[in-house]
Amino acid sequence: MEITFSPAEEEFRKRARDWIEANKPSDPPPENYLPARREFDLAWQRRMFDAGWAGISWPKEFAGRGASLMEQLIWYEEFARAKAHEPATLFVGLNHGGPTLIACGSEAQKAFHLPKILRGETVWCQGFSEPGAGSDLAGLQARAVIDGDALVVSGQKIWTSFAQIAEYQELLVRTDPDAPKHKGITWVICPMNAKGIEIRPIRTMAGHQDFCEVFYDEVRVPRANIVGNINDGWRVAMSTLSFERGTAFLSEQVRLARVVDELVDLARVTPYGDAAARAKMALDDDEIARRLAQARAEVEALRSMTYRSVSRTARTGMPSAEGSLIRLFFSELQQRVYALAMDILGAAILEWDIEDRVVEGAGGPRHQRMRETWVFRYLLSFASTIAAGSKDIQRNIIGDRILGLPR
Ligand SMILES: Cc1cc2nc3c(=O)[nH]c(=O)nc-3n(C[C@H](O)[C@H](O)[C@H](O)COP(=O)(O)OP(=O)(O)OC[C@H]3O[C@@H](n4cnc5c(N)ncnc54)[C@H](O)[C@@H]3O)c2cc1C
Repeated sequence: MEITFSPAEEEFRKRARDWIEANKPSDPPPENYLPARREFDLAWQRRMFDAGWAGISWPKEFAGRGASLMEQLIWYEEFARAKAHEPATLFVGLNHGGPTLIACGSEAQKAFHLPKILRGETVWCQGFSEPGAGSDLAGLQARAVIDGDALVVSGQKIWTSFAQIAEYQELLVRTDPDAPKHKGITWVICPMNAKGIEIRPIRTMAGHQDFCEVFYDEVRVPRANIVGNINDGWRVAMSTLSFERGTAFLSEQVRLARVVDELVDLARVTPYGDAAARAKMALDDDEIARRLAQARAEVEALRSMTYRSVSRTARTGMPSAEGSLIRLFFSELQQRVYALAMDILGAAILEWDIEDRVVEGAGGPRHQRMRETWVFRYLLSFASTIAAGSKDIQRNIIGDRILGLPR
């Protein structure tokens, strides 16, 4: 593993830093109205594409920059350093839908979809999970039958992030109910405006409605939208999940280091302890200082693990099971960091009201907004040990594929 940067990489970092500083959106993204967030993210993505900064590690033939994974990582570091807005509604297309098409799609699928994803013209969502099939993904029941040149899909998906604003979905369906469960599955690109699709948003405890239930009532999807072959969807899905658990969360991992820095700043200005000791700030408390130092050390460890994994992926072309190790460490660390934020803020967090965030334009003095942001992020952090495979499933993968433990 090489942990120093080459002169070319340092030069790349400088150009990335200068461009991001000069071009990042100055307005904050619209938070609680998804169609507006979608337009904001697409416009930002288009700006990056026009300047040659989209799809850093995607091949040039698919409108990417053709740079290395290490340069992709450097880009994310500079993005985090500049606190540039992450186009989260484009996550699926950019981080695993697109890469899956690069790995397994037909030439026609690549030519049609990949430039649209990179240019900021389409939003994708992921239709994998069902009410009875999350960790046991291969148990999925949404079915599809072939009728002429179409697959006719019926069933239900759940937890589909951004389904209500997406044009396309990476959809897993059962096409052979008699085959062993991993064998009869197909990965298909489903247009979200197809007749027979009903989308019902779900509200989370953090008060937003980013994910949905999706119902399919005899939805006709062209057979040309099958990625890989019919009944070959498990292989394609494993490629999707290897990106999702491998490189997809790189930018979030990098951002966590910035979050810890912000937390130190918060501890510096937040009074701590009982009324008699209110003159004291949280950072003056030995235990809080120790936990902050621990968090700093752990984000550094995360950084090293990420570099190691990126070096390895660059050599092999595909993320390995090591991605599960990093994903697990990152998601639990993220939860510890936000739990620490709650301890620093103390009883003040109890005054936080979800509706404050949901009502457009709600604000207040700076400290109030800062507190709301930390509470909001804390509530969101519960999802990080569930999404993209729960922490228990990541542990199973580590035990099985890295440690070689018996099942
Ligand atoms: C924020 C967020 C966004 C999401 N976005 C999407 C999306 O866009 N598209 C999509 O398809 N899905 C999405 N998901 C769903 C996610 O993939 C599933 O929630 C996840 O795979 C877990 O499945 P489940 O919820 O059905 O839980 P279950 O599988 O029912 O698990 C329940 C509990 O049992 C444990 N468990 C289950 N099996 C085992 C086992 N074999 N060994 C040990 N423990 C086990 C789990 O760890 C968990 O604690 C999202 C989830 C979240 C939280």
